[in-house]
Amino acid sequence: MSKRCIYFDCAATVPPCQEALSTFEKISLSSFANSSSNHGLGFESSKMLEKARAQIGKYLHVLPEEVLFTSGASEGNNLAIQGVARHNASWGKRIITTKGEHPSVLEVFKHLEKEGFDVVYLDYDKDGNLDLQQLSSALNEHVSLVSIMAVNNEVGYLFPLEKIYSLVKEKSRALLHVDATQAIGKENLSSSVYDLMTFSGHKITALKGSGVLVKKKRVELDPLIYGGSQENGLRAGTSALPLDCALASALRVTLASQNERREQAKKVKQYLSEELSKMDEVVITSPVNSTPFILSFALKEHKGSVIAQALSNEGIYISTKSACSSREEGYSYVLKSAGYDEILSSNGIRLSFYGYETLEQAKEFMDVFSSLLKDIKVR
Ligand code: PMP
Repeated sequence: MSKRCIYFDCAATVPPCQEALSTFEKISLSSFANSSSNHGLGFESSKMLEKARAQIGKYLHVLPEEVLFTSGASEGNNLAIQGVARHNASWGKRIITTKGEHPSVLEVFKHLEKEGFDVVYLDYDKDGNLDLQQLSSALNEHVSLVSIMAVNNEVGYLFPLEKIYSLVKEKSRALLHVDATQAIGKENLSSSVYDLMTFSGHKITALKGSGVLVKKKRVELDPLIYGGSQENGLRAGTSALPLDCALASALRVTLASQNERREQAKKVKQYLSEELSKMDEVVITSPVNSTPFILSFALKEHKGSVIAQALSNEGIYISTKSACSSREEGYSYVLKSAGYDEILSSNGIRLSFYGYETLEQAKEFMDVFSSLLKDIKVR
């Protein structure tokens, strides 16, 4: 195993920050009581939980009661989509999403489609332009939900949420859900462009198993988990207080460093894009207008998974598709839907950053990557 460790897989996860870890440890020991318990220690825990909720509300510019704690974005996406679709099923037969969503959105839509919902999957092109004409035509009084990600996790597309929100409100009574898992702490996201919004703690240096669903006050939905009255009856189960407080700490730290990290990620991405563009073997698949935190490219002749394995042996960690589906064989549906052929769609590589990466690491990546390609050619 190589001693080198260059981690360019921050869209998959990042290590927790010291503040999140300290909060987790402190709260685990000092506020161990069940926050629903009807005694002094329980009230103390409940107070801490509401404090974390209020802090998160403040950082995201929403009301404290609009913050629901979850186990992560997969749960948040499921709760938002299934919850809204089922709650409005009597009149809302149509639901809309894009072809480039994360599986925790796309698979829910496919499931609901099998149950009888009329699902519209929106197209986008290689430049990441979502077909807003298609959205406009699909909207009518029978649409209950539109779910569109803020930042695509494989390629880094930035979908125009402001325009989408206006269109949705103008042409329907649907709610707009935004999967902001790759946006929080990276892109500015106004709370005025969504009705529901999800993200995961572990992508923003909090701990794995934590997450948030923001649900605006006026939004009604059915729960997925029935039981106790935690989270306003929308998510039964004993609150994970230390995780929730750690998420509040991580969100504060991550938002405070956002601008600086963005600048650094831009520099690293620009350098790598320029160098990779010089190689005949490479097709850059992240459009110019994409997040600075993700750089995706495809190889014309080599399998992405083979290169990823070879890089890993050299201590460089990257993804082929998204981490969630990168162990599955086959092409990336995100690239295929954008219009790339099956070969390029099967040979995608994703580099993703948090803004702490250096140009030296980027240069080292290029050295190792170029020599790997040469080696493979010679063999
Ligand atoms: N949505 C997006 C855009 C993601 O990138 C991810 C994580 N890859 C998820 C949802 C799911 O997050 P989690 O695995 O933490 O539930």
